[in-house]
Amino acid sequence: MPPESADILIVGGGPTGAALALALRGSDLSVVLLEARESMTSDPRPLALSYGSRLILERLGVWARVATATPILSIHVSQRGGFGHSVLSATEAGVPALGYVVSYSELQSALQHDLSGCFTGATVLRIEAGEETALAEFSYLGNKRQINAKLLVVAEGGRGLEGVEGVTQREKDYRQSAVVTQVVSRVLHRNVAYERFTPQGPIALLPFGEKLALVWTTGPQVADMLCSLNDALFLQRLHQHFGDRLGGFYETGKRASFPLKLKYAITPTMPRTVVLGNAAQTLHPVAGQGFNLGLRDSWELSEIILCSTAQQLGTSEMLRAYRARRRLDRYGGIFFTDTLLTLFASDSALFRAARGFGLAALDALPKAKRFLMRRMIFGARG
Ligand SMILES: Cc1cc2nc3c(=O)[nH]c(=O)nc-3n(C[C@H](O)[C@H](O)[C@H](O)COP(=O)(O)OP(=O)(O)OC[C@H]3O[C@@H](n4cnc5c(N)ncnc54)[C@H](O)[C@@H]3O)c2cc1C
Repeated sequence: MPPESADILIVGGGPTGAALALALRGSDLSVVLLEARESMTSDPRPLALSYGSRLILERLGVWARVATATPILSIHVSQRGGFGHSVLSATEAGVPALGYVVSYSELQSALQHDLSGCFTGATVLRIEAGEETALAEFSYLGNKRQINAKLLVVAEGGRGLEGVEGVTQREKDYRQSAVVTQVVSRVLHRNVAYERFTPQGPIALLPFGEKLALVWTTGPQVADMLCSLNDALFLQRLHQHFGDRLGGFYETGKRASFPLKLKYAITPTMPRTVVLGNAAQTLHPVAGQGFNLGLRDSWELSEIILCSTAQQLGTSEMLRAYRARRRLDRYGGIFFTDTLLTLFASDSALFRAARGFGLAALDALPKAKRFLMRRMIFGARG
């Protein structure tokens, strides 16, 4: 049964909440995590984790359990209907791999393997940020309960928990959905990831075992239509849309679609409360930044918590330190993904030409490329 008070209460046991709980394992603090789901559900989305995220997951003792992690050795960036491309490679970035593709579900079970103080089937209904402690009301085994904490961490993925309205949010609807599935291509992927920009939205094909994980962003109605096509027609549409670089596709799995918007908190704290991961910033999946950013939120919050005294835990001083430490990385990630989408959205010939020159110039400037890659891998302090 969850206790009535704790030093730290984490709401949401998704990958960012679970990573924070793991990072605090072994400390003297009492940490409680409440997760609404009864058990692990299978989530079809692939996650491209940066090499920097791998280093954090290794420190958390989780990496060895992510058996299917497939290295990305290079990324081919191009635009449909226009010239110019750029190839980002691990060698140029000075790392063994730019990143790794894992399944959300596998990462989630690896993170939850060693968690203690985690209560599943506990849905937080409302939170209240106070000066001395924060309070959460939740339902568990059919009863309503309350828990007080010196520090409350909201990691519920941005689902609109009552009480989080205290944090000012900005929102931008991209009017796009991402269709997610796995496909097999006629040409072997050789650990290359493809990010191809089209006027309807970017399409990513990521090496995942022998297959490719597909994230195809497009308008919501087209996404519904793509999910309802039979396999042969879907693969044909994919080939038409992506082009010939992988020689076509001949096998696909179940498809799912996710609506996409940008939503972020101007200030990710309230009294005694930190909001992190997707609850603090939900990004478009272009360039696979969302969870990588959320994991750095968790890691850096854990470092601040572990350096704080019992009296400092959850104080405005501690929250200020967290905000200052995360500001550049958070805003960098938000600005980077949103700008990429804006730059590649226009279908005009002039824009296409300018983008083509931009991609070609990036390819010819190793220092600029290395700068970009290291920020994508390690965040703003790369
Ligand atoms: C199609 C797609 C592809 C993506 N690809 C990438 C990628 O390649 N790389 C990358 O870095 N990111 C990617 N992302 C983003 C990534 O999925 C998210 O950033 C990540 O899942 C955020 O983790 P989280 O723990 O903050 O939130 P979530 O994953 O949303 O987890 C939140 C958890 O909180 C629980 N919860 C919710 N409400 C309550 C409540 N009231 N009480 C208790 N528990 C609650 C939920 O059950 C859930 O377990 C992608 C996203 C999409 C949609």
